[in-house]
Amino acid sequence: MNEAQIIELGRALRLLGEHGETLGRDTPTEKITEIRNDLKRALLIVEQAAGPKPYTDCKEHPFGAIDEDAPDRCLLCQTRRRRGELARQANDRGMPGAPERRY
Ligand SMILES: [Zn+2]
Repeated sequence: MNEAQIIELGRALRLLGEHGETLGRDTPTEKITEIRNDLKRALLIVEQAAGPKPYTDCKEHPFGAIDEDAPDRCLLCQTRRRRGELARQANDRGMPGAPERRY
C-alpha cells in the first residue's frame, strides 16, 4: 500500500465511521444510497491496495493451478499430497523396491 492509498483509504474509512455515528431510524434513503456509494469506494481502494485476488488458499502457490477437490484449492500441493499418500501406502504394504520418497 503506497502513501496515497493509505491517505485515501483512511479518509474513506473515517467517512464511513461518520455514517455509522449518524445512522438512525430517521436516516433518509438518499443517505443510505450515499453510504452504499462510500462503501463501494472504500472497497475499491482496499482491492486496489490489496492487489490481485489469489486463485488458491495456498500460501506457497497463491496464483498456481486450481484443484477444486483440494482443501486449499492448490493443484501443486494436492499432487504432492497424493504422491506422498501413494508412497506411504506402498511402504505400508512393504512393497520391495518401493521408493521411500519424502515430500
Ligand atoms: Zn500449494
